[in-house]
Amino acid sequence: MKASQFFISTLKEAPAEAALASHKLMIRAGLIKANASGLYTWMPMGLRVLRKVENIVREEMNRAGSVELLMPVVQPAELWQESGRWEFYGKELLRLKDRHERDFCMGPTCEEVITDIVRKEITSYKQLPKNFYHIQTKFRDEVRPRFGVMRAREFVMKDAYSFHADYESLVRDGYQPMYDAYCRIFDRLGLNYRPVAADTGSIGGTGSHEFQVLADSGEDVIAYSDTSDYAANVELAATLPLSGSRAPAAESLAKVHTPDVKTIAALVEFLNIPIEKTLKSIVVEGENAGEIVLLLLRGDHEFNDIKAEKLAGVKTPLTMAAPELIRAQFGADGGSLGPVGFKGRVYADFAVEKGADWVIGANENGWHYTGFNFGRDAAEPGFADIRNVVEGDESPDGQGRLKLARGIEVGHVFQLRDKYSAAMNAAFLDNNGKAQIMEMGCYGIGITRIVAAAIEQNNDERGIIWTDAMAPFQAVIVPMNYKKSDTVREAADRLYAQLQAAGVDVLLDDRDERAGVLLNDSELLGIPHRIVIGDRGLKEGQVEYARRTDSEAQSIALDEVAAKVL
Ligand code: ATP
Ligand code: MG
Ligand code: MG
Ligand code: MG
Repeated sequence: MKASQFFISTLKEAPAEAALASHKLMIRAGLIKANASGLYTWMPMGLRVLRKVENIVREEMNRAGSVELLMPVVQPAELWQESGRWEFYGKELLRLKDRHERDFCMGPTCEEVITDIVRKEITSYKQLPKNFYHIQTKFRDEVRPRFGVMRAREFVMKDAYSFHADYESLVRDGYQPMYDAYCRIFDRLGLNYRPVAADTGSIGGTGSHEFQVLADSGEDVIAYSDTSDYAANVELAATLPLSGSRAPAAESLAKVHTPDVKTIAALVEFLNIPIEKTLKSIVVEGENAGEIVLLLLRGDHEFNDIKAEKLAGVKTPLTMAAPELIRAQFGADGGSLGPVGFKGRVYADFAVEKGADWVIGANENGWHYTGFNFGRDAAEPGFADIRNVVEGDESPDGQGRLKLARGIEVGHVFQLRDKYSAAMNAAFLDNNGKAQIMEMGCYGIGITRIVAAAIEQNNDERGIIWTDAMAPFQAVIVPMNYKKSDTVREAADRLYAQLQAAGVDVLLDDRDERAGVLLNDSELLGIPHRIVIGDRGLKEGQVEYARRTDSEAQSIALDEVAAKVL
């Protein structure tokens, strides 16, 4: 590709509202353009990256025996009513009416549509198991779209659905192969990730793993052991630890853990919740706290209405001490915080209603915590029971210390069991001619989010650092004076043709711009290999070669370039 034919639109500055490195860089590199809150255009440069991700996902899905189809984005309400999700899903589901006043929604996932197809197409055990996938645009009317394509409203997902005659087949032929395919996909993409045991959220069913890309800016918190395979998201770690991150099914319920003061202090520090002073007092007095929950509210949510009455019934030194401390700490930034006498689910629901970002709680068993982002999950009913806790000094499998890290959820595998197949009567005849409900699994990957997550993990002050697998171009040729110097132009054109013939995805930056602009752009765009061609070097038959990760370029012979790049 020649840059003069292509479209490159880089920016020196990122817009003020972009908080994350990946968001800033995606805008500055011209990968995406915002159209409205949570709605983006993938510009030509960004689309090349997106397609590379898609292709890797497609290859591995095909290899794992999943079959590609393409379902509609707009879905009829009837199917959603049948599954029960029309009532259940809340405001994240964008609902619309057609000209005949019939109800539809923009699909946030496709369980209903695929189950409807399968119940009509598959009637016998002989046709099972089957696994279908597509790579398709989804819409979720997120409460807080943010961080660019990381949490958009319209985004691209790979979603797959598998159907089985029995549970053994779901695990053996569906869940496990998908889990393995996900590991291959994220390995090939060069991401530093961890599969973690997860709660099944609004989708229901049992058995689930999230694939979390490790990044300090991640919205999720994962808990893992530093010496064993244990890894779970923090919601699940508080309730139902699995026996290992590579074990797809829950083996047993682990014992409930009571955290110590240190753990809470560490968590608060980790989450960077600015209540250091408050915490000290609370934790010290709170060790024997009674039934009390501390709600942390941030942003513009008001909390005043609840304080007095709810506190009245709570008799611990902690509750007496807390309100003053808290108000002193938080009054200034517009947020507010207060303790309430709710427990378990009740306070979780309350927190949702109030738009809390984080919740830390205690009950008569001691302190416990959770890292829910309620604003985000407000549409999802059924929070994990956050009364149970993760300990600091023993991970739940008894091996090693439990550590916390932040993550970005890029993939999710679920054993849905019969949640949809029973509600929608997806049945088949077994080998005795008896009608049975199918077992079902579903498997999502956030294609667009992966692009942001990869940048979040790999960038420096100069820009994006792509792996070869995801880069929009593998190599860029930067000629000095392409327009004016015949020698440079001829050498650059020749090298360009040579690399193209060798199958390298190469960009020839023939734009009529200052050298500094071209060099800066090549770094901002994160292209893995760069070859700078100038008159001076060419006299000795040399060019300047650098990998994006190198701190300095090296002189190499023109005819050595292909070997370096390939
Ligand atoms: P999150 O917890 O981040 O809201 P989710 O659990 O609601 O994600 P799933 O229903 O598991 O998402 O969907 C599968 C995948 O789709 C997720 O693992 C994630 O990578 C991606 N995804 C979900 N919501 C968004 C979004 N708003 N923008 C971009 N990608 C998303
Ligand atoms: Mg969500
Ligand atoms: Mg999630
Ligand atoms: Mg999920």
